[in-house]
Amino acid sequence: MLDKFKVILSNTTHPGNIGATARAMKVMGLSRLALVNPTSKYPNAEATQRASRATDILANAEICTSIDEALAECKLVVGTSARARTLPSKLVTPRELTELIAAHPERVPVGFLFGTENSGLTNDELYRCHYHVCIPTNPDYSSLNLASAVQLLSYELRLAFVEEMLPQQTIKETETAITNEQLTGVLQHFDQAMRLTGYLQPDHKKQIDIRMNRLLNKAELTQSEMNILRGFLRAVVNKCQ
Ligand code: SAH
Repeated sequence: MLDKFKVILSNTTHPGNIGATARAMKVMGLSRLALVNPTSKYPNAEATQRASRATDILANAEICTSIDEALAECKLVVGTSARARTLPSKLVTPRELTELIAAHPERVPVGFLFGTENSGLTNDELYRCHYHVCIPTNPDYSSLNLASAVQLLSYELRLAFVEEMLPQQTIKETETAITNEQLTGVLQHFDQAMRLTGYLQPDHKKQIDIRMNRLLNKAELTQSEMNILRGFLRAVVNKCQ
């Protein structure tokens, strides 16, 4: 799904922002970038440097001479801006937008328009958008850096459309939970050690049993933790015998 999302930067002034945008996209798994009338020529050394290892995205970026050219195949057009406009398109948060896209998968490919650093998207650019995404920010200081805005939107797209969120973990057998039988074994071992050390008063046994059971349930012991406890209890029992 992420390859159905196209980031379109309109009239970007600073090549560094284009490089940082490529990087922001790649870490979230987006790949399609279009540059509409960028101020500098591409390839550009500063953009390449800021892209870090996302230079493939820069190399494959479409260079367009109009928004229409960049949007040609898009079925949904989304503008991004911190500012509300007088003739508004429907204003949504990034999360509301991803929910809308998820409910209407027939509306892909989606083009996301980002404005120029100094003045943002023009009203004419924004009016043609189906939706206006505003990333909620401090009302007194609402404008994000261009690549940061791309980063946040790409992150929301990743959260919404990529199922495997975290790297796969391999859990060692020793770090798995103990069975109920093993729990009973630990409780009996405690009981034995408490008796042998003289800690356990017969009339308190029931209360201690319940609380020890509750304590060990809360601990959610792993195999390795159980081995430490049982090793220690064995040493206590041996000392007392
Ligand atoms: N000074 C401009 C801001 C340009 S920032 C203005 O007042 O509009 C460059 C681009 O980053 C914006 O055009 C927009 O695409 C994006 N952006 C910045 N902050 C944003 C926000 N809070 N929500 C959505 N997009 C934002």
